[in-house]
Amino acid sequence: MEYFIITYGCQMNRSDSERIASNLEKKGFCASKDLENADIIIVNVCSVRQASVDRIFGLADKLKSLREKNTGLTTFLTGCIVEKDKARFKKIFDHILNIDALNDWILKFDGAKASEPSKHSKHEPAIPLADKKKFTVGIPISTGCDNFCSYCVVPYTRGGLIPRDWRDILAEVNTAVLNNAKEIWLLGQNVNNYRFKGPNDSECIDFAKLIEMVDALPGEFWIRFTSPHPKDFDDAAIKAVATSRKVTPYFNLPVQSGDDAILKAMARPYTSSQYLDLVEKIRKAFRTHRTGIESTIALSTDVIVGFPGETEENFLNTAKLFKKVGFDMAYIACYSRREGTAAAALQDNVPKTEKDRRYRELTRIMMETSLENNSKYVGQTLPVLIEKILEKNGTWAVGKTRSYKTVKFPFKHDNQFLPGDIAMVSVTKALPLGLTAQPL
Ligand code: SF4
Repeated sequence: MEYFIITYGCQMNRSDSERIASNLEKKGFCASKDLENADIIIVNVCSVRQASVDRIFGLADKLKSLREKNTGLTTFLTGCIVEKDKARFKKIFDHILNIDALNDWILKFDGAKASEPSKHSKHEPAIPLADKKKFTVGIPISTGCDNFCSYCVVPYTRGGLIPRDWRDILAEVNTAVLNNAKEIWLLGQNVNNYRFKGPNDSECIDFAKLIEMVDALPGEFWIRFTSPHPKDFDDAAIKAVATSRKVTPYFNLPVQSGDDAILKAMARPYTSSQYLDLVEKIRKAFRTHRTGIESTIALSTDVIVGFPGETEENFLNTAKLFKKVGFDMAYIACYSRREGTAAAALQDNVPKTEKDRRYRELTRIMMETSLENNSKYVGQTLPVLIEKILEKNGTWAVGKTRSYKTVKFPFKHDNQFLPGDIAMVSVTKALPLGLTAQPL
């Protein structure tokens, strides 16, 4: 029997898909090269944005025609889906289950006819790790979120934050590193709110302590994490990441808006000046505890333009914050109303053309600051984790630096570098969204 998984969403969704694949393979399924030959099709989606919902509807006709050709086909929809959307997707899929219920179903699969899946999951976050040998491995440290930002469906679709047992996390990092992983992503919707309490509160491991323990594991690997919440970056966590040898000097620190009134409406409990103070604190900690290029952090952010009621003045405050911080990358979203969230009750009153203009303006600022930041790397010798070999106007190796900069350099077959290897390069040129280099 063959399976095919389609994933639309964030790193957490991709990590979940890997674990689903691992469970399917334990049950004797093989990955199908295409949808046409699959006996099971799983669509794992994050419906945080309307665009993902539209993509699911876009699959409807394809799944219908596949089902006509293959009557044994079973289709699943899983991921972050709000209740109201579930009702709309019912006609397209045989089963709509959360991740835990889907994993339960797979693990109970008896090799013949699949039993009817239970809608009730145990909601245990300790999902078995994918065994595949991969050089980049995402390891969830928690699932869900308690924050209820007013625009976000995650607390409704994934539930409240449940930390995984730190012993499971360490064991998974160890396994991944033994399998040659070079880059470990610690994942969570609110990753730095990690706090695992043992029975009777006998132990409490927080994010700072977890980072220290992962850092102390044997092996050479890079530690990254996403996504932290600015409100949960306490001094202990800042010190832990800055003093760790393995944590890379790259942060995604979602700001969402640079305007205090909009932040309040978004239920983000910090002000723009508190965000700026936090950025400075993190930068100072890296300058204090690291040397050379490692003492400069690269910073990306998530931001929403056109939130209900966002005036030109509100937007200009975000643009101002962008210039002050000088982001290396920004994941900019035009606000889209998500049913079931608190913000859905507000009037989505910023016209699309205006949202698009604000999107373009933030992109322009980010490209300028990113190019300026990237120029600091020219002439530096850096390790690059090679992700792929690209054949386009020549042969290139493409990878990431520790500061998460994309680097492209000429690939020579006698170099014998392969994806997953770390190559030393000398940076020759800064581009707005990356660097070019020569291998050493
Ligand atoms: S912190 Fe806010 S935006 Fe992030 S997952 Fe939680 S509710 Fe959603």
